[in-house]
Amino acid sequence: MTDMAGRADPWPSGRARPIMGFNAGMASRQPTARRYRNRPPSRFLRRLTVGIDIGGTKVAGGVVDSAGRVLDRTRRDTPGLSKSPREVEETIADVVDELTGRHDVAAVGIGAAGFVDATGSSVLFAPHLSWRHEPLREALSSRLRLPVVVENDANAAAWAEWRFGAGQGEDHLICITLGTGIGGGIVVDGLVQRGRYGVAGEFGHMQVVPGGHRCECGNRGCWEQYASGNALVREARELATAESPVAQALLDRAGRDVAAITGPLVTEAAMAGDPTAIELFDEIGHWLGVGMAGLACALDPGCFVIGGGVSDAGDLLLNPAREAYRRTLSGRGFRPEARIVRATLGNEAGLIGAADLAREEIRLFARDPRRASYRRRLFFADERDRG
Ligand SMILES: [Zn+2]
Repeated sequence: MTDMAGRADPWPSGRARPIMGFNAGMASRQPTARRYRNRPPSRFLRRLTVGIDIGGTKVAGGVVDSAGRVLDRTRRDTPGLSKSPREVEETIADVVDELTGRHDVAAVGIGAAGFVDATGSSVLFAPHLSWRHEPLREALSSRLRLPVVVENDANAAAWAEWRFGAGQGEDHLICITLGTGIGGGIVVDGLVQRGRYGVAGEFGHMQVVPGGHRCECGNRGCWEQYASGNALVREARELATAESPVAQALLDRAGRDVAAITGPLVTEAAMAGDPTAIELFDEIGHWLGVGMAGLACALDPGCFVIGGGVSDAGDLLLNPAREAYRRTLSGRGFRPEARIVRATLGNEAGLIGAADLAREEIRLFARDPRRASYRRRLFFADERDRG
């Protein structure tokens, strides 16, 4: 076998290929897609679990069944909570208590924006909260007397789309969530790829434009400065502030108030046929496609699932993205192209995914021959630490 330049394949078939960012430790405690499909659901898989989605201003919780349906919901607004990790913990416990009061729940999964360590125990860093190396799992599981798993919110969303949404049946899936920034998750052969330290999939901070817009991560030209909801709003407001004649319809729609131009407003305008709003989505879509072509070089996925608020624009976003992807893909014309599809689970994907990953955890807990020690680790970590 030869590559495109006619050189011999350095990894002839039959030899193990190197896999980037693969965490062997995590892999051993997760099921593969194949095993998943062939096994009837055990009684653990049929139990209800709670999924929690922690945002900058709210904690949302839902009771989720084994088919990914949200049976019950509740939420707390949490303004100003970023000052106190304890207070966020209290709020999460409060939400879980309310839901477990109404349902028999087996475990809790928490999806948080930020860096979660590879074992799903601690939040290393959260951009909207003051968590720094916060041992959230042990604190909450000993308090709630339930198994708890903590997962990055974009990983949880990717898992949900793979299990129940647009990514079903895909063995090599990349999920991209376009919100204020860009969240990313990778699911390969039924495994969330978390990397060695748990922080894989932070695609939003890959540099796509050298010397470009400043990003809050400290660098310039990050992908999320060009293909996220924030990028869309920034561009729209810039046009409006410059009093460009092409932005007048958008401004009228926003009541002549530049600050009232939001992502949903631009989306609404684009769907109503406003040429400037459509052009803005063309631009965002273009950069989305360019970034995905870069990801394809590294990861060669079969499918990209695009979620988050910006994806509400549907093909107004995805068509220019597909076009730019096709034009930018390395070796184009000589390789199969990944499908690019819209996510189907909406803004509850993170909550559903976190709940389902918690269900996974109890299934593995039940099957683990060392479950006595595992049980101690999950439930009684605080006692053990005390001596
Ligand atoms: Zn950045």
